[in-house]
Amino acid sequence: MSTSLSRHRAYTGRFAPSPTGPLHAGSLVAALASWLDSRAHRGRWLVRMEDVDMPRCVPGADREILRQLDALGLVPDAPPQWQSRRGALYATALERLIAVRSAYPCACTRQQIAAAAAALGRPPARHEELVYPGSCRPERGGLRGQTPRAWRLRLPDDATVHWADRQLGAQSQDVAAVVGDFVLKRGDGLWAYQLAVVVDDADQAVSDVVRGADLADNTPRQVLLQRALGLPTPRYLHTPLVMAVSGEKLSKQHGAAPLDVNDPLAALRAAAEVLELRVDAAHQPDWLAAATQAWAARWASRASA
Ligand code: GLU
Repeated sequence: MSTSLSRHRAYTGRFAPSPTGPLHAGSLVAALASWLDSRAHRGRWLVRMEDVDMPRCVPGADREILRQLDALGLVPDAPPQWQSRRGALYATALERLIAVRSAYPCACTRQQIAAAAAALGRPPARHEELVYPGSCRPERGGLRGQTPRAWRLRLPDDATVHWADRQLGAQSQDVAAVVGDFVLKRGDGLWAYQLAVVVDDADQAVSDVVRGADLADNTPRQVLLQRALGLPTPRYLHTPLVMAVSGEKLSKQHGAAPLDVNDPLAALRAAAEVLELRVDAAHQPDWLAAATQAWAARWASRASA
């Protein structure tokens, strides 16, 4: 097997933060890993602001994240993109799905979904998300005169997705059992993360998604959506999470402190430790070069193993 990372198809990686606050120690791990993977493959690295969920976004957080990345030496190879400016692309994708009957309107409220799921004897909650029982599917009677709220993807009959995660190994999920027909456009008119991320990754020719392991269970939904839209599936690598003292994933919601980029090397070293990457260099540019070499060597040896 090849031991050269550079022989892969054209590599494009991306870091796709939601600007709900500045970078913290946890989000830097994903940013650094995706940057290192792009550099190790001699590929391109993009930054995309995932600000579709406007009510959760914090004004100015996007600029602060870009400033932090810049201070760390993680500089994108093209101007950053903002999802809030890309609604036309998402609308076109939804129209395509509607045209091939892979998307349908849904009138259900949370209470209705919970009641329908309970009537089917299905557990009502998983991470507080309800498995949608398909009540508004066209073959089950559709909207029945009710006002449409959201648009959902109609899952294929076999909705079990298998994928080989570069970090986690062989993975699979039966999306019908775990999530059900999922939302593409929300009842409040906002685009769902799943649709936006799939459309953007394809539009930006992203070959490799490197992101936090908390997003791993979204991957099967995204793969089904790629298939429904006739888009390629990127490779996936889900990085270890930084845990807060409480034992939960370190996140802005759990009060993670903003990353101090006055000492970029200390921040980078802490992120590298989470990635179990040993890097000996005393200055930032050398450190990034050495880290890239260490990352390339790790994946080259795994490819040839
Ligand atoms: N915007 C997502 C987040 O910050 C990441 C999406 C992704 O990398 O696919 O959690």
